[in-house]
Amino acid sequence: MFDYLVVGAGFAGSVVAERLASELDKKVLLVDKRPHVGGNAFDHYDDHGILVHKYGPHIFHTNSREIFDYLGRFTEWRPYQHRVLASVDGQLVPIPINLTTINTLYGLQLSSPELEAFYERVAEKRHPVRTSEDVVVNKVGKELYEKFFKNYTRKQWGLDPSELHSSVAARIPTRTNRDDRYFTDTYQAMPLRGYTRMFERMLDHPNIKLMLNTDYREIAGIIPCKETIYSGPVDAFFDLRYGKLPYRSIEFKHETLKQAQFQPVGTMNFPNDNAYTRVTEFKHLTGQKHDHTSVVYEFPKADGDPYYPIPQAENDELYAKYKQLADDAPGVHFVGRLATYKYYNMDQVVAQALTLFKRIKEQRPAKRHGGGGWVTGVDRSSYGAALNAPSIVSEIATSISSSSLGTAIGSKILT
Ligand code: FAD
Ligand code: UDP
Repeated sequence: MFDYLVVGAGFAGSVVAERLASELDKKVLLVDKRPHVGGNAFDHYDDHGILVHKYGPHIFHTNSREIFDYLGRFTEWRPYQHRVLASVDGQLVPIPINLTTINTLYGLQLSSPELEAFYERVAEKRHPVRTSEDVVVNKVGKELYEKFFKNYTRKQWGLDPSELHSSVAARIPTRTNRDDRYFTDTYQAMPLRGYTRMFERMLDHPNIKLMLNTDYREIAGIIPCKETIYSGPVDAFFDLRYGKLPYRSIEFKHETLKQAQFQPVGTMNFPNDNAYTRVTEFKHLTGQKHDHTSVVYEFPKADGDPYYPIPQAENDELYAKYKQLADDAPGVHFVGRLATYKYYNMDQVVAQALTLFKRIKEQRPAKRHGGGGWVTGVDRSSYGAALNAPSIVSEIATSISSSSLGTAIGSKILT
């Protein structure tokens, strides 16, 4: 008899599984339908021996000391500050837009105070700032919006920025200095031996049994578990009762080149050219030395694996209906990017998972909104008003019905 069935071995499921096993001595069955742990953060050595991220580039950054230290129990860190160049008007310029970007694009030699005045001049003030178009045009005006944001966003989301919540483009700041880092969080680092190794250490506990290549539906009701932690798509859990929640997908095209370096920085963005949005060269992220190099191109698409919840008012409304079902689901806790339909970074998902664990530990009644102590210092820029603070989970203690353990399924238990 397991105490918990945890669905999904990404950050959300793995963190909750680790905490329940290590701190509460609970018996956990962790199930993932993919053949590996790590969820979308999974990395592996490709055919040429280069460490790559199967589901696109994952750069860890957080302002939370607690979260950095918590993950640091399972990995050493390699300090890494991500830099991105955008290909605009035939030039490669830093994004987020900064002093160098503007001076290079327009052949100017502005100082920081002069750039501030420049932004003031070109900005078209919008009230209220509701959409992703509003948020950019309000800060830097139509021309820069069109050069950097309009077409990238159309490619990435299949939507015009005017149809997307402001929180999406608000992830990208505008700068008046020369800081060309993509993130400015206090802690920016990559797991030294990769994400997968970090997950393996996190899950290496005698109380945790891991079943890969297994949809939880194959074993639900067969293997007895008292409660469920669910980190898959929330609409799928309820058999699409209110219709499909839109998630954006991506096709990742991986390539290895016979050269030591392909591009000057970790990622190059292509707002206006090509069908792909960006190209990432992994060796910048991982620091690996190799005479070949591996890159990934990202081609956004509507169908396929669900990667991004789409922040739009109508989707928030549909999600609210699913959230009601989730809140009322006996013995099931929903956590993570897909299960709570939130455009969260990794650290935010870890914060959400630790908050859920804390709540389970304290056996407090369900709290519909707001996070707990672990959320301190987590970058909230992508929470936004409509996305709101980490709305966590339902907390109803009734156990799911279950019968005895199937012998054939037992063979799928890997650790
Ligand atoms: P997931 O990682 O999606 O894990 C959910 C797991 O549940 C999956 O493994 C899935 O197989 C499993 N599952 C689903 N349904 C079932 C089922 N029925 N039965 C069994 N298993 C099931 N964040 C950052 O902080 N920095 C970045 O640079 C960054 N880059 C990103 C780039 C891309 C292209 C994408 C898509 C995301 C990026 N993120 C980044 C976000 C990051 O991936 C997420 O925040 C994080 O991985 C979410 O973890 P999760 O556990 O909620 O979900
Ligand atoms: N964005 C853009 N141009 C860029 C970079 C980002 O228009 O050069 C917009 C786009 O809508 C994108 C969003 O800002 O989806 C958030 O970018 P981020 O790099 O944070 O996206 P992620 O890494 O989550 O895919």
